[in-house]
Amino acid sequence: MNLKISALEFVEEVKSGNITVEEFTAKTIERIDQVDDKLHAFLSVNNDAVDQARSIDKKIKSGESVGACYGMPISIKDNVCIKNSKTTCASKMLENFVAPYDATVISKLKKQDAILIGKVNMDEFAMGLSTEFSAFGPSKNPWNTEYVPGGSSGGSAVSVSAFECVASLGSDTGGSVRNPASFCSTVGYKPTYGLVSRYGLISYANSIEQIGPLTRTVKDTAFILNLIAGIDPNDNTTIDNKNEDYLEGIESGIEGKKIGIITDMIGDGIDPEVLTATKEAISKLEGLGAVCEEVSLDMVKYSVAAYYTITATEAGSNLARYDNLRYGYDFPVEGYEFNSYISKARKNLGPEVTRRMIIGGFVPSAGHTGKYFLKSMKVKSKLTKEINEVFKKFDLLIAPTVPIQPFKIGGKINDPVSLFLIDINTATANLTGKPAISIPFKIVNGLPIGIQLLANSMNDKLLLKAAYALEQTVTLPEVPI
Ligand code: GLN
Repeated sequence: MNLKISALEFVEEVKSGNITVEEFTAKTIERIDQVDDKLHAFLSVNNDAVDQARSIDKKIKSGESVGACYGMPISIKDNVCIKNSKTTCASKMLENFVAPYDATVISKLKKQDAILIGKVNMDEFAMGLSTEFSAFGPSKNPWNTEYVPGGSSGGSAVSVSAFECVASLGSDTGGSVRNPASFCSTVGYKPTYGLVSRYGLISYANSIEQIGPLTRTVKDTAFILNLIAGIDPNDNTTIDNKNEDYLEGIESGIEGKKIGIITDMIGDGIDPEVLTATKEAISKLEGLGAVCEEVSLDMVKYSVAAYYTITATEAGSNLARYDNLRYGYDFPVEGYEFNSYISKARKNLGPEVTRRMIIGGFVPSAGHTGKYFLKSMKVKSKLTKEINEVFKKFDLLIAPTVPIQPFKIGGKINDPVSLFLIDINTATANLTGKPAISIPFKIVNGLPIGIQLLANSMNDKLLLKAAYALEQTVTLPEVPI
C-alpha cells in the first residue's frame, strides 16, 4: 500500500477500487504508530477512524453517493474545533477542553466524507514558528529530526511530509501555514482574508488570520480550497466566492504574467542558499513565459514590528477568557482574592504566550495606544496601499517564504527577537489580506527551501495556477523517514 500518493490520486485509487478506504486508513494509523514517536506531529489520533473508513467503503460498494474526499485522512491543527474532540491549542490551559461544536471547515470536510485522522501539534495558541512553544513538546522535522519543522502549524506540515496523512489544515496569522510548509517541503496556502470561515478556529489575532491547507501538491491545495472556501453566516468577515472552482484551468500556465520580485524580502539576513534558490525560481518562471522585474515595498521593513504589536493586542483580548472561570484547568476559588486567582490561573500559560499577553496588555493601555497600536495600524494601511499600487502593475509577487533554512531545535528559543524577525517575508500577506502560497522548491544540505508567491485579493485562482506551473519545474528527493 502506497501512502505517498496525493489527495487527487487517493480519490482516483478509491474510486477505481484499487484500494479500500479501510486499508488506507489502517495503514495510515500504522504509519503514525511507527514514525510519530520520533516526529511528534500528533497530539491525538482519531480512534474511530477505521470504523468510519469501513462505513465509507460500504457506501461506495452499495452505490450510495459519497463526498468528494472519499475517506481521505486529513489531520487538523489543534486550534480548530471538532465536536466532542479535545482541542488543546497545545496549551496546558486547554489540556482537557472538549469542543462543543464543529468549526465550519470541519463540518464542510465531514460532509465530503473526509476522515479527520487526528489533531496535530502547534506552538501554544499558534504563537511561534518552530513548534517548540507547544506545551506538549516540539515536533521534529522529518528531513532531519534535530531540526525544527517550522510553525506554528508544525504538526500539520510534519504529518503531510512524513506520510502520516494525505493533507492537513493549519492556520496562518503571520506565516504559520507557509513557514512550516517551507521547512518541511510541503505546499502551504494562506487564502485571501475572508475566503475561508474562521468559525470554530480558536482566535489568536482574528483580524488577519486564515485557515489554510497543507498538501503534497498544488492541485491538492486547490482541491481542499474548493471544499472549505465560501461565505459563512457564522463568520461575517467571509466573502462570497461564487463557488469558484480552483482546479479548473489550473494547468493553463502563466505566459505573459508580470511577476514582481520583492527586493525588501531578499536583502539583509537572507541565507545565501535561499537567495540562490529564489533566483533559480525566478529564472524558471521566466522560462515559463512570465516577465519578472524587481519591485520595492518600502513598508515591509516595519511589517514585523507592526505585526507583533497588532497581534499581541488582539491576543491580549482574545486570551483574556482563559482565566479558569470560563475556560481553563480547574482549581477552587477559595483562599484567593480575584487578582491572585487569575494570576495563578494564567501561570498555566507558557512563556511565549505570557510574553504576548504582557505586551498585549501594555501596548493598548492608556497613554501608549498612539505610540504603538495606532502607529502599527498606520503601517498596516500604508503597506496595504503600497501593495495595492504594486498589483496595478504586477499580476503576482515572488519572495522566499522564509529567509533562512530550518534551524536546530533549541537554537533560537532564548532569543525571541531573532525568532520574530523570521516572519519578515510572511507577515505582509496577513497584514494586507492577500493570498500567498509556499511551494517546495529545493533541498540544500538535506533541508528544504520553499518559494512564496503572492497575488491580489481574490486572485487565489491565478495564484494557484502560477504555483502549479512553478511546481511542474521542480523534482525533489523523497523525505528520508
Ligand atoms: N510566528 C508568528 C507568531 O508567532 C506567526 C504565527 C502564526 O501565523 N500563527 O505570531
